[in-house]
Amino acid sequence: MKIIKNSKELTQILTEHKNDNESIGFVPTMGALHEGHISLIRRSVNENMITVVSIFVNPTQFNDPDDLDKYPRNLDEDARLLKYEKVNYIFAPQEAEIYPEKDTRRFDFNGLDETMEGKYRKGHFNGVAQVVSRLLEIIPADRAYFGQKDFQQLAIVKYLVKNYMPQIDTKIVEGPTIREEDGLAMSSRNKHLSKSERLAAPIIHNTLAYYQARVNTMKVEEIKEEAVNKINAHPLLKVEYFEIVNNETLQPIDKIIPGQSTGCIAVYAGKTRLIDNISF
Ligand code: AMP
Repeated sequence: MKIIKNSKELTQILTEHKNDNESIGFVPTMGALHEGHISLIRRSVNENMITVVSIFVNPTQFNDPDDLDKYPRNLDEDARLLKYEKVNYIFAPQEAEIYPEKDTRRFDFNGLDETMEGKYRKGHFNGVAQVVSRLLEIIPADRAYFGQKDFQQLAIVKYLVKNYMPQIDTKIVEGPTIREEDGLAMSSRNKHLSKSERLAAPIIHNTLAYYQARVNTMKVEEIKEEAVNKINAHPLLKVEYFEIVNNETLQPIDKIIPGQSTGCIAVYAGKTRLIDNISF
């Protein structure tokens, strides 16, 4: 396994692999790796001859400077894990490698970014699109792997590749959300939870699962109101939003069509913001 910091060097090495007809899988991450990341990485290692994992905490997707400051970083530990997983290359660039100049590009996502994360984290998805488009330019991947944990991000990335990057030949592959045994979706931010917040956090998924089992007998408005009340009843949890949206448009719906709707939620556990979703 090689750790590469220079984007030109990485493109050159990967182009040689491509010329040798070796398939390339790519897993973009912000590091502080957990089983959620590892599940995507194992899939890439299984499906491709070469796997590249990027570790880059992208400043342009953080709307809260404090969140960016506190984001966990541990390249040595991540590298140890990735070596064990038989990853071929880690791309760990400095900011100037990704943004030699200030990135002023503005993307239009046809409304996909107007709800939920896009509404509450202004500019977040524009930053995601900036970094993902740069990474996909640098890394000539056959497949790039993303988690369903970030449901809206996945929709945005697919839209970006389809509408803004016709020149690349990378297939977007999605992997299921990996959870702790008690249901909490794995996240690098879980490291910030205090003991009591960590104990409270599984209420989020357990509540979503409770209403998933009741989609046929309850109205959207009832589900939303009850779910929010249930979570907010815990003194350490505060719901920022809970929306039930159409899987394609990401717009809130007032009637659930099974298999075409997803419940998406953001909850503060103390100061830590957690997101999750469930298919309805
Ligand atoms: P991040 O490092 O948070 O930017 O995440 C990198 C990739 O891992 C993204 O595609 C995420 O959706 C995915 N990911 C993060 N957490 C999980 C999880 N618990 N299960 C599956 N994928 C995840």
